[in-house]
Amino acid sequence: MLTERIKQIKPSPTLAIDSKAKAMLASGIDIVNFGIGEPDFDTPDHIKEAAIQAIRDGFTRYTPVGGIQELKEAIVEKFQRDNNLTYKPEEIIVSCGGKHALYNLFQVLFQRGDEVIVPTPYWVSYPPMIQLADATPVIVPTPEDTGFKLTPEILRAHITPRTKGLILNSPSNPTGSVYTRQELEALAEVILAHKLLVVSDDIYEKILFDGLTFSNLAQLSPELQKLTFILNGVSKTYAMTGWRIGYLAGEATVVKAMTNLQSQSTSNPTSIAQKAAVAAIRGPQEMVDVMVKEFAWRRDDILARLADIPGVKCVKPGGAFYVFPNFSEYYRYFQPDKDGNLSDPLATYLLEEAHVALVAGSGFGEDKCIRFSYATSRERIATGLARIKAALQKLAG
Ligand code: PMP
Ligand code: GLU
Repeated sequence: MLTERIKQIKPSPTLAIDSKAKAMLASGIDIVNFGIGEPDFDTPDHIKEAAIQAIRDGFTRYTPVGGIQELKEAIVEKFQRDNNLTYKPEEIIVSCGGKHALYNLFQVLFQRGDEVIVPTPYWVSYPPMIQLADATPVIVPTPEDTGFKLTPEILRAHITPRTKGLILNSPSNPTGSVYTRQELEALAEVILAHKLLVVSDDIYEKILFDGLTFSNLAQLSPELQKLTFILNGVSKTYAMTGWRIGYLAGEATVVKAMTNLQSQSTSNPTSIAQKAAVAAIRGPQEMVDVMVKEFAWRRDDILARLADIPGVKCVKPGGAFYVFPNFSEYYRYFQPDKDGNLSDPLATYLLEEAHVALVAGSGFGEDKCIRFSYATSRERIATGLARIKAALQKLAG
């Protein structure tokens, strides 16, 4: 009954582990959940109030398909204020979450025969979304010793006459690695030479540590801005994952095509969530700093606890709320699963033996590692890491 297209698609492993962990919790098992990537903070009150006000005002009907003008203008202001990038409202589309904006973008930009370069480790949804557009994801490994970042040499080596696009995600999910402006400039030469379309997934823009500053490709030159499509949203920055508001900035014809697609599929993102997003983007930003300081503390804590487990190595993340340690020293105790992966059997062992939910690296294209989302309390981090250490010690005898 099912189409060939959908048969290739597996469920998102991040969401799958979250439902498994929640089901175990509901059955009374004390699971430490490092699975899903979403801030554990509550949406700030002024944002909630804006949504409540919108309901009271009867702002509960269809809105323009690509988002209300007020929100588009707030997003235009955000790009100017935070990134020194100028956009017009017709170069902005608001969708039902960043994931939805990316899906629509891929449908509009890529088709059969197109290759899209996806550096590993990648966020789980990029390759399936590219396949759903009938295009080919070209998975490009990056070296762990340089923080899992794409270099101009590696990029150049994977370009063919069919290459149409490249995905960059900084800070990265799952590694937390951050590209510096210089690193982007080096990539830019190759990108410009081949006129690649760049999808810049900036969703973790604000979650940066150690005084690092954020840069994306569009900021480097007007020519690069034309080739770049910026994805961002309110989910991570303002702890608004459930509100489902994401947005994209890029060339007006592409935004128009995405709007057409949206008009035939989902229509507008939720009216009241759009009002909340306006309050988030235009309102006070202090809570973002509070959240980032807490994430920075947890990053240091979790790195120290991982360093205390024999044989585990971890790239130091500069942003986001993930660590992606290499657990391959422990793989000798397991048999590969049917896909030949070892991160899955180890993650399953840690779920069943230590009651800790993690996402296996295989879903991110890097089987040596396992992802932790440390968007959970300090106390749960301490408990979870102690359990993992004990479970691994048990393996090693
Ligand atoms: N990109 C990356 C790298 C992500 O981790 C996420 C989180 N789900 C998204 C995009 C999309 O987030 P959302 O749909 O909640 O805006
Ligand atoms: N981006 C988050 C994660 O990686 C949320 C889940 C998802 O959208 O896949 O866990």
